[in-house]
This record gives sequence, C-alpha cells and structure tokens, in this order.
Amino acid sequence: MKLKELLETNIDLYGEYPFLFFKEKQYTNVETKEFADQFADGLRRLGISIGDRIIVCMPNCPEVIFTYQGITGAGAVIVPVMFTLHPKEIHYIALNSGAKAVITSSHVCQTVEKALEGLPGKPLVITVDQPTSDNMRNFYDVLSKDNDLHLDERDVKAGDTAVILYTSGTTGSPKGVLLTHKNLYSNAANSAKHNEYERGTTLGVLPLAHVYGLTVSNVCFLTGSSIVVFPKFDVKEVFETIEKYQVKSFSAVPAMIHALVSYPYADNYNTASLESVGSGSAPLPVALLKAFEQKFAAKVYEGYGLSEAAPVVTAHRKGFPIKPGSVGFPIPGVTVKIVDDLGHEVPKGEVGELIIYGENVTSGYYQNPEETNRVIKNSWLFTGDMARVDDEGYIYIVDRKKDLIIRGGFNVYPRDIEEILNAHEVVFEAAVVGVPDERMGEELVACVVKKPDTEVTEEELIRYCQDQLAKNKTPRRIVFLDALPRNGVGKILKTHLRKTATELGI
Ligand code: ATP
Repeated sequence: MKLKELLETNIDLYGEYPFLFFKEKQYTNVETKEFADQFADGLRRLGISIGDRIIVCMPNCPEVIFTYQGITGAGAVIVPVMFTLHPKEIHYIALNSGAKAVITSSHVCQTVEKALEGLPGKPLVITVDQPTSDNMRNFYDVLSKDNDLHLDERDVKAGDTAVILYTSGTTGSPKGVLLTHKNLYSNAANSAKHNEYERGTTLGVLPLAHVYGLTVSNVCFLTGSSIVVFPKFDVKEVFETIEKYQVKSFSAVPAMIHALVSYPYADNYNTASLESVGSGSAPLPVALLKAFEQKFAAKVYEGYGLSEAAPVVTAHRKGFPIKPGSVGFPIPGVTVKIVDDLGHEVPKGEVGELIIYGENVTSGYYQNPEETNRVIKNSWLFTGDMARVDDEGYIYIVDRKKDLIIRGGFNVYPRDIEEILNAHEVVFEAAVVGVPDERMGEELVACVVKKPDTEVTEEELIRYCQDQLAKNKTPRRIVFLDALPRNGVGKILKTHLRKTATELGI
C-alpha cells in the first residue's frame, strides 16, 4: 500500500466526515483529499516529478496534512523539517536532500530564506499564507483544479521512498532516514492493531514533522478518526479539547505528560472521557507514570520507537498489565532480539543492544552507505539502544548505548540515577551525564531542575542518592538549572548538558 491510498481507503470505508479541526476551522476527509489532489496537480505543473524531494517546514496546521498527501500524490518525496531548527540545520537538510521546493508559513519564511542562502539551484518556496517576498508562491495559488496532469500510478511503488526524515541530531549530525510507503503504511496499520485503536477524535499535539506525529495522522486515516491539530503544545488547550471532544486517547511525549501532571488547574476540566495516553520518543520516568495515574483516571501506555523503524517497535497492550519502566511488547510484524557486541543473542534478562527486523525497517540513510552499513546488518537494524526482556516478554529500554557512562571502568546507565532523582519530592526533572575526569575516566553529573518554590542543596541530593544507589552510581556533582535543553519533540539534549556540565568543571 502507498501513503496516497490511506486517504482514498479512508473515504471508501468511512464516507465523508469531519476529519481535521484547527482553531475555528474544520475540514472533512473529502475536502482534505480535494486540497491534496489539487496540490499534487499544481506541483506537477511547477515541474515537480517522481522522486523529487520537497521540504515541509512549518508549525502544525491543516496545510501540513494537505501538502504531505499532495506531495505523495505527485509521486514526490516528503522531507519533514522541524520549524524550530536553526537556519544552518535547515540549510544542511536542503543541501543534503537536494530539495526542489520548500513549503513553509509566513512566520518561518525568514528562517527558511536564510537557510536557502548559498544553495546551488535555489528551491522554489511556497507559503501556506501570505508570501513575504516576490519570489515566493502561495499554496492556494499553486492548487490546480484542471486535474489533467495524471500520474501513472504504476510509476510509484510501495517500496519507493515516501519520506526522508532527518534524525533530530541529538547524538550527532542529522542523517536522512529513508522510509518507504510500505515502511510507514505497515507500521501505522500494525501499531493501530496492537493498540486496538478505536474510531474517535484524537489530539495532534505532536509535531507532524516528527515521525511519531506523522504516524498519529496516518493512524487517524486508517481508523476513520478525527484529529484536532495544535500549532504548538498548550496545556490549557489540551484540557479544553479533551473536554470539548470527549477525547478517549492521544499520543504524547513524556515532557507533555509532565506538563499535564504539573498543571494546577487540571481539576477545572472534565477529563472522564480520557482512557489512555500513549507515551514514546523518550524514557517515561516511573515517578511520572505514577503521578499521572494518581491524578487522572486514564492509563499511560508507554511504547518505544525510532525514526529508522518508521517508528513504532514496541508498546504496552490493552488487556495486559502495565509494568512501569517497561515499553511493552513488539508490535505485529516486528521481531526484536537483544544481542551482545558480537551480535549473539544474550540470555533472557541480560542487557544487550536491541536489534529489529521487519517491514518497518528503513532501507538506510540517504546517500550515506557508511552509516547505513553501520546500522543495518543482514536486514537487522541495530538501534544503539540497550535493553533487556523479562520472563513475560516485556521489554525495558535501559539507556542509549551512546549515553552509557564508564566510571572507573564500570558501566553506569544514567537512567538508573535519573529514575531515583525524578522520584525526589522537590525534583521537577533530572538528567545525568558523564563528563571527562582524569582519575575515573568519566564522572557523573546530575543536572536538576527544582520544582517552583522548593529548596534543596547539592549535598542533600547527593546524600539522598547515596542512600539509594551503589557508590559508583552516586553523582559526584549536582548542577541546578532553570530548565533542561530539549529539541522540537521535547527530548532532552544530552550533548548540550554534557557541554554545560564539562564547562562548569567538577
Ligand atoms: P539522533 O539519532 O540524531 O540522536 P533521535 O535518536 O532523537 O536522533 P528519534 O528517532 O526521534 O531520533 O529517536 C529515537 C530514540 O529515542 C530511540 O533510539 C531511543 O533512544 C529513544 N526512545 C524512544 N522511545 C523511548 C522510550 N520509550 N524509552 C526510552 N527511549 C526511547
């Protein structure tokens, strides 16, 4: 199946219904298809052909969905880019992908224009609202109603690249993950099946430029659901929308779940409809899961995924007990193994690298055979994530291999310490990094954000850790910060923290 067929099948199965809500506007699935078809036609008129890469860089809005469907309808390749990136980062992506066009919105235009400076063969810029300069086109002017430039459907295959997703670069420079129609379609279908998603209205709070947000919208097509699209995560609006649309479930990241739990006016809203919240993209601290379930009647189903797996790999399942700290079971169509450094499977319960095989696995990185060969071996994807599996088959992500700290020759997984710190009554959030140390090789530094109007000293927190952790896992220093640096999807940027902690010295 191809991505274009998501919307076509949705209309065949469910008929016309309000599909997309955005501020005071709403669009049916049929209207969404009309915009997509007209945009596909418009793109072809502008000379876009099969396989051309097109960047979409703007905050969530209906046009993101229209353009995604339009690009795929024209047989071109979507390159979703987070609008929060620096112009230099967007420049890198535009250059690396050889983008023919960039679709953006007025308040990102300046960033985009800066990003495109110095590029060989300037891409065409299309804005979904008022163009800010003469050489830009407007999305609505590009739409073509003639519909006479048909694409021969046989020229686009399910195994062709549909999307190139640049990894967030939390661990290095971004790489273009190639995802085929089949990768994305099968993953959305299998995760909908695994999670037993029902028809309903969900929240589009995740950026559609991230693979997780993109999959949420794909699942809506498959299940005949509606989506309320948020330009940015706003906790008050989330509560209002849950109440207004009787939302039963939605997908989020731990930072959003944290914001829901910390919101002081949550009791003013009726959230009784809410049954479940999916959490993924970063570890969900056990203390946070417990705090959420104490405050709301809904359950949190943690899952695990990565761009290279389109993205869902595992998730908790309805009807099975939730084990805090675990990411559940592999979804249908995905096989996982836990292996040692030589690629041999480790005994049950032992920690090793999680590797994946399935229809969802990327064919590699765009024009980067070296990195591709490093992560894909015999069709197995090496995730770089350390994990273990328990006797009942539940998977636990221990930490990223790259975040492992080797202190005095012993392996320390930062997450073990973060879980303890996150459970402390005055800790709002915490992240642990390793910094170079002459004596120990690496030393542990915990970066801590305190809850508002609370006090705790570095010595007190170190003593608290000493009481609960082995000596070699106790942080040497605690650094208090106002906030932890995060990327556009709310993930803690450990490279930034390592730099801050190293500069402060130990
Ligand atoms: P880069 O590869 O540039 O560092 P990134 O890893 O942030 O970017 P994504 O594909 O967005 O790119 O993130 C996938 C990673 O997120 C996984 O490999 C894993 O480390 C982490 N992750 C996702 N879900 C979970 C989870 N539930 N628990 C722990 N870690 C998770």
